[in-house]
Amino acid sequence: MEYDVIILGGGPAGTAAASKLSAAGISTLLIEKNKHPREKTCAGILTQKTISFLEENIGVLKMEQIISSNQVTIRYKRNNIGQFTVQAPFVFVERDVFDNKLLNVCQNSGTCIMEGVAATKIIPDENKIILSNKQTLTYKYLIAADGIFSQTRKQIGLPNMPAAFCIQDTFERDTCPISLQHLQELQLNFGEIELGYSWIVPYPKHIIVGTGAFTDSVEYCSLLEKHTKLCNHIGLTNIAKRRGAFVPIGGFEYQKNHLYNNIVMVGDAAGLANPLTGEGIYHALLSGIYAATAYLLDSHNLRETYLSFLQPILEQLTEQKSLLSKFYSPLLLENIFFQLKDCPEFLSALCDDVVSLETRDYKSLIMELQQLLR
Ligand SMILES: Cc1cc2nc3c(=O)[nH]c(=O)nc-3n(C[C@H](O)[C@H](O)[C@H](O)COP(=O)(O)OP(=O)(O)OC[C@H]3O[C@@H](n4cnc5c(N)ncnc54)[C@H](O)[C@@H]3O)c2cc1C
Repeated sequence: MEYDVIILGGGPAGTAAASKLSAAGISTLLIEKNKHPREKTCAGILTQKTISFLEENIGVLKMEQIISSNQVTIRYKRNNIGQFTVQAPFVFVERDVFDNKLLNVCQNSGTCIMEGVAATKIIPDENKIILSNKQTLTYKYLIAADGIFSQTRKQIGLPNMPAAFCIQDTFERDTCPISLQHLQELQLNFGEIELGYSWIVPYPKHIIVGTGAFTDSVEYCSLLEKHTKLCNHIGLTNIAKRRGAFVPIGGFEYQKNHLYNNIVMVGDAAGLANPLTGEGIYHALLSGIYAATAYLLDSHNLRETYLSFLQPILEQLTEQKSLLSKFYSPLLLENIFFQLKDCPEFLSALCDDVVSLETRDYKSLIMELQQLLR
């Protein structure tokens, strides 16, 4: 069987692309090395722009087993900076359930799915993929949605993805201290580690605590030590599950450098996570849909058309990356957070307008902050 498009990877980026292509009648094969529901280490925080995007572009209207919160607590070096309300609630999804739901959407749109089979080699000059079951497939167009350690990325000659390590622990609610057993809000802790933060996310039966530094210069032992100290400090000692995983911290700029017109990179494989927050699901979905749209509009110029759609995102990520060192500078952060103690409306605006809805960019908020602190 010949397919018009082969997609590698069944995460949000790959399934978004597959559902749009299949719904438009394009014969599409999605290859995923694991079997859904598969484990994916992630905090599972969805912003409102992501929820709207899912509803408008992928037809996901309702998600089971979700919890949402419009309360956020922010701490700096364990001091309470503010507990405030956001207009656009954060939604928390279990990634195995969420990704499985997206896979069902593309299955229902007519995508052919091969699970439990990995692409072990891509030969871009011959348009061939060799699979772990020894099968060789020929593609006309390839969408690489194969995550942060993308095989495709390596084999089309792009440099390794700069990546930051995160640690994430799961605690069953009934083993948590009483004060946390009924936790409903999202908590963010800054100042524990430089260039990063810790997140505490409430799920119905468990609580997730993760720590990530958005740089590759923090050593694993130091990250683990600080993460463990934070967990102990809040009384979480009974770890049910510990996982480590990487988020991309750049590398998105390189995808302009490859030469294959019939291959595009989407999601983490393209390094599209937000370098300030680590949010990656939104851009994974968006880039998947962009890749499919580029194919539907002008398949002969797939890569060029896709990159033209992606250009504003690449500019936004470049700006965010340049803000990272300024924004997360320890002295500045300390000053900012203590001055913001009395400004819950500023923290709400940061969460709502900049992070959740993207109606404003980080730069404009930083300018407002400078005026506020003057
Ligand atoms: C600790 C942590 C917490 C995070 N928290 C959040 C959060 O709260 N909110 C948010 O928006 N983002 C978060 N992210 C980022 C988010 O998880 C990713 O950006 C997102 O999953 C990217 O989606 P994707 O489809 O590009 O890649 P993935 O979800 O990684 O999917 C890639 C898929 O490709 C498959 N694959 C890989 N290689 C092959 C191969 N050779 N052949 C076939 N299949 C292959 C993999 O099995 C996988 O299923 C977090 C990341 C980490 C590490």
